[in-house]
Amino acid sequence: MAAYDYDLFVIGAGSGGVRAARVSAALGAKVAIAEERHLGGTCVNVGCVPKKLFVYGAHFGEDFDDARNFGWRSTAPAFDWRTLRDNKTREVERLGALYRRLLENSGVALFEARASIASTPGARTVRVGGRTVTARHILVATGSWPRVPDFPGSDLVITSNEAFHLPRFPDRALVLGGGYIAVEFAGIFAGLGARTTLAYRGDLLLRGFDEGVRRLVVEEMRERGVDVRMPARVAAVELIGPGPARRCVFTDGTAVEADLVLAATGRAPASGDLGLASAGVRRAADGAIPVDEQYRTNVPHILAVGDVIGRAQLTPVAIAEGACVAHNLFGEGGGDDGDGVRQVDYATIPTAVFCQPNIASVGPTEAEARRRIANLRVYESIFRPLKHTLSGRRERSLMKLLVDGDNDRVVAAHMCGADAGEIIQGVAVAINAGATKRHFDATIAIHPTAAEEFVTMGEPVR
Ligand code: FAD
Repeated sequence: MAAYDYDLFVIGAGSGGVRAARVSAALGAKVAIAEERHLGGTCVNVGCVPKKLFVYGAHFGEDFDDARNFGWRSTAPAFDWRTLRDNKTREVERLGALYRRLLENSGVALFEARASIASTPGARTVRVGGRTVTARHILVATGSWPRVPDFPGSDLVITSNEAFHLPRFPDRALVLGGGYIAVEFAGIFAGLGARTTLAYRGDLLLRGFDEGVRRLVVEEMRERGVDVRMPARVAAVELIGPGPARRCVFTDGTAVEADLVLAATGRAPASGDLGLASAGVRRAADGAIPVDEQYRTNVPHILAVGDVIGRAQLTPVAIAEGACVAHNLFGEGGGDDGDGVRQVDYATIPTAVFCQPNIASVGPTEAEARRRIANLRVYESIFRPLKHTLSGRRERSLMKLLVDGDNDRVVAAHMCGADAGEIIQGVAVAINAGATKRHFDATIAIHPTAAEEFVTMGEPVR
């Protein structure tokens, strides 16, 4: 049998790569991992974690307002961007150090350099930091990278990568895009005090989420002063100075002036310059690497997980895929299934958008469920949260359960309202466990909460 330097070489120390490396090492494999930027990848450095810290920061704006009718009096609060930015960076650095310790303690060899596959088909060689090493298996976990559309002045816009390190907070911000990153950043800028516009080329934000929730999000954003423009296609961005001022002109002739333009217009799988073509690994037209049920590419010793495979671009999914790879390669007799292969169940992935208020979902949208389920029952509750009966804020919450009328199984839950992510996580457990509407009805409510709506929905609305 051929001898290799490593049993597994992982390219990319982000969510998926680190999990695959650590679990493989724990299962007794000799593992190396390469990282060209920051340990922890997108999520820790320029994704979920710093974003959520900014979301917390942004929320205080409305909390100060809401507090007044609860009797609190204070002078107008002032926001200091550098404090938030630098405290966030300190926390990110702490997490980076933690990742380093976790990898070291699990015995994974760390190469802090760019890696690429140096193989002719069949060979198992990686080039990393001026060295060449061999591995029985190679895992590509290189994530994704912001994609900026091509228009005149596209070099004048920033992406989410830069938004975490702005030297100064803008007075006016324009966010381009309609996905969750665009919506979240619009909420962050607006909450922290910037005059904010969100421009999306489609008809309604947040494609893929339930339509009722999407419509309510737009209303809530507008209620908070965000100028939401749809459909709005960028024709050009130009500098108008003095200072950072830019003008973004849309194809319908309208324009927006802003001190910062953030393009959150999608992310492309980071599969370029990795030597994949010379290794014979196929890629889809958008750069995603197709994989089979064991996350193997068409070259079976080269595997891929996470954003680069273009399935669900979410941290917990990348982590779960990384763990599956480790178990499939090095676990005893494979995993949970009869055939010994572990793979992620993509059918009921819960997810949240941290806008104000949050939205969260698990299971199909109402439109999707209607296509699949003949006897669909829709339960819905739209209400003013108790807190806002006093705060005076005109915020409404929406909660929806979708039930298969043939067997009473709850197939989906959707929510727009405070702490939706926290609430839907628990509901997702019930749905995953096969709970029926009768189980929900038999559950005693926690009163007074918003979450109790999920166990007190009486008659279907549709
Ligand atoms: P990454 O975590 O991106 O890791 C890939 C790593 O590979 C990177 O560190 C990169 O530097 C490295 N790399 C690439 N090429 C090479 C090479 N040739 N050699 C060496 N190293 C290389 N997900 C959620 O679940 N919840 C959220 O709230 C959320 N918020 C987000 C907010 C933003 C602004 C963004 C951008 C993303 C967010 N995500 C969120 C998505 C989440 O961050 C990704 O889905 C997740 O990080 C994907 O993990 P990964 O392992 O595939 O890739």
